Formats: sequence, C-alpha cells, structure tokens
Amino acid sequence: MRIFVGRRVKPGSSLENTTRAWRGKHPHYKQKDCIGCQRCFLGCPEGCVYQMDKKRFDVNLDYCKGCGICAFECPVEDIDMVLETGCEDQP
Ligand code: SF4
Ligand code: SF4
Repeated sequence: MRIFVGRRVKPGSSLENTTRAWRGKHPHYKQKDCIGCQRCFLGCPEGCVYQMDKKRFDVNLDYCKGCGICAFECPVEDIDMVLETGCEDQP
C-alpha cells in the first residue's frame, strides 16, 4: 500500500523559466542505490525530477534551481550536489 504524506501540485510557471543560468550547484543522480521512494520526485519544488524506471530518476537541468532538496531527502544518498563550472571559488 502506498501512503503519501503532503500534497503535490503542478508547478506554476516553473517550466517556462530556465534557471540554469544562476544556479551554483546541480544534482547528479547516481542511479546506483535508488530504492524508488520518490521523495526527490515529490519534494522538488520545480517539478523537474522525472522517473525513468521504477528505481531510476533523473532531473531536467534546464529548470532545476539547485536548491538541494532532492539530495537532502534521498534516504540512500544516491544524489550528489555538484558545483557548476565557474563556481569553484565561491564560498
Ligand atoms: S536541486 Fe532542487 S530544483 Fe533541482 S532537482 Fe533537486 S529539488 Fe528540484
Ligand atoms: S530520493 Fe533517492 S532513493 Fe528515493 S527515488 Fe529519489 S533517488 Fe531514489
């Protein structure tokens, strides 16, 4: 039985605005230890995480704002937050 806590609504204008230009980090989905819990998918405020298979997810980086919620929520640490090129010297 599937139980989802909270509510997921469609993103408003998220998919009309590309956010990659001002992002400092982006998620890297390792697709190694995923258990298919969907926490990244349900928790992404931009709705840019998508499911490829039962235990395989990825992100559309054109619309990811780099908030890191997906990586924080992943219970098996299967998502790394990676610095964008050119942000290496940022604090
Ligand atoms: S970093 Fe934030 S915006 Fe990007 S995929 Fe993860 S939860 Fe969504
Ligand atoms: S939060 Fe982690 S384990 Fe859960 S679906 Fe996403 S990548 Fe898989």
